[in-house]
Amino acid sequence: MSIQAVCLDCGQNTPYAPSLLNCPACQSQWLEARYDYEMIAAKWPKILARRPFELWRYRELLPTLRYNPDLSMGEGGTPLIRAVNLGMMLGCPNIYIKDERQGPTASFKDRQGAVNIAALKEAGVTEVVLASTGNVAMAYSAYAARAGIKLWAFLTSLVPAEKMREVALYGTQVVKVTASYDQAKKVAAEYARQRNLYLERGARSIPSVEAMKTIAFEICEQLWQQQPEAERGDQLVGFRAPDWYFQSVSGGLGPLGVQKGFHELFRMGLIEKTPAIAGIQTEGCAPMVHAWKEGRDTAEPVTSPRTHIATLSTGDPGRTYTLLRQRMLSNGGGLFESVSDEETFRAMHILAKMEGLSVEPAAAVAFAGLIKLARNGSIRPDEVIVVNCTGHTMPIERLILGEGWARNVVLSSQAAEFPQEGLLAALSKVTDDRFPTVLIVDDTEEARRLIRRILQAQGNYTLHEAANGRQALEIARKELPDLVILDLMMPEMDGFAVLDALKADTATAPIPVIVVTAKELTPEEKERLRGQVQTLLQKGEFMSDELQEEVRALIR
Ligand SMILES: *Cc1c(COP(=O)(O)O)cnc(C)c1O
Ligand SMILES: [Zn+2]
Repeated sequence: MSIQAVCLDCGQNTPYAPSLLNCPACQSQWLEARYDYEMIAAKWPKILARRPFELWRYRELLPTLRYNPDLSMGEGGTPLIRAVNLGMMLGCPNIYIKDERQGPTASFKDRQGAVNIAALKEAGVTEVVLASTGNVAMAYSAYAARAGIKLWAFLTSLVPAEKMREVALYGTQVVKVTASYDQAKKVAAEYARQRNLYLERGARSIPSVEAMKTIAFEICEQLWQQQPEAERGDQLVGFRAPDWYFQSVSGGLGPLGVQKGFHELFRMGLIEKTPAIAGIQTEGCAPMVHAWKEGRDTAEPVTSPRTHIATLSTGDPGRTYTLLRQRMLSNGGGLFESVSDEETFRAMHILAKMEGLSVEPAAAVAFAGLIKLARNGSIRPDEVIVVNCTGHTMPIERLILGEGWARNVVLSSQAAEFPQEGLLAALSKVTDDRFPTVLIVDDTEEARRLIRRILQAQGNYTLHEAANGRQALEIARKELPDLVILDLMMPEMDGFAVLDALKADTATAPIPVIVVTAKELTPEEKERLRGQVQTLLQKGEFMSDELQEEVRALIR
């Protein structure tokens, strides 16, 4: 298997070896791996069918000489999860989440750690220096421990203490640098230079870029797998490209590698197009977004990032941005967008409450970007979107959870003697006697489930559901709910008829009504609703907390 390293500056072609760090012709550090794509494309489908679903199944397109199972911890092969509730809420039903939290070190950096440490082991390197905003250090530390490589991690003081301690637990020497991440990188580089140690080089390291490619490979295989059986035929392995890949971006290594991965699949004739990349940054540190929007191919460094999200505090993306932009423009397209910390924290809540995923703020940035772009129409409802859920929550929820998130159960000393009774008495204080009652009327199960979930997640309500108009009236008359949430388009008895019947009955007439509809209303229909309903919401256009606020205001 021959791998070539191509110099991005002078075009020199060199046979790749893990110890190759610079172009032999011009000394440039910007090398890129190229493979014999035709040959690999011919034999891949057959080989892949026999291998487990994890990163090393793609070893023909990875820059190690041998596969070393002793270093592996089952990296890669993370689930691709359909986001049904979020998709419903945004009016984009084809949203998928690539759940990178489920890797061995709980972020997508464990791909980078696994492939780099394997390559460094092959190159005979025994001591490594790196700078990190946290997750790279955790990933490299775990794999360095397995490989017997000594690691020095220079961490900016913005990194949460919990992450620093985890890095130290793996036996890595932590150096806390009270400065920005870009400054910490300079200190690490100087330390490595003085002691003549190997310095981790991010996007300039072939194994790093190549490791990130595997996310693209997996996504396309998983999208293909998730198609209806009839469309897969009798093939065992196949690839299908999404329309969009979303990721929170700091230095840009992830999207650079993922873009290369998609493009390689395209070159090999395995997918029909290269997907668009959506790179999302935080407003307080968004050098790529500024450059992109101004059409510039170099990003002006942000010298003092203003964000709570330390993981995304690369102020100077350097050449990575230039390369990324070039490639987005020449194949696949895409865009860069920024979101505020507030939008990010809101997305964190939405993701946890609507999809059951607890993610770190850096990961939530991509979702906040998706919400923003879906709502402003940059994403079409029929497009297939994959969001990289890059990392898991660290104990920094203190920042975002606010007050009143827990209820207390206190057992008196007596309770110890009568455990059963004492517990029940204590619990009865937790649940108030009567919660407000809400009737949800919609003929589609998914729509009812979304509204039920929104109300469950952010308040205490007694919920009733009706799947048609007749049932809705029955329940309304019997339960006299505090609020009705009503769909308009239903077979037989539609929402308008339900509304007329509710208002005609003196018992149900005063109940406030929120109409949630997918229907574009005509002026006559709007006139019919006037004075009858309190709030009108368009399906696919409101977020969970917005509905929650309406409900709270009407029930009070
Ligand atoms: C590193 C990291 C990012 C940013 O990724 P880049 O590809 O380096 O820009 C985003 N989210 C998490 C959780 C990360 O660890
Ligand atoms: Zn060169």
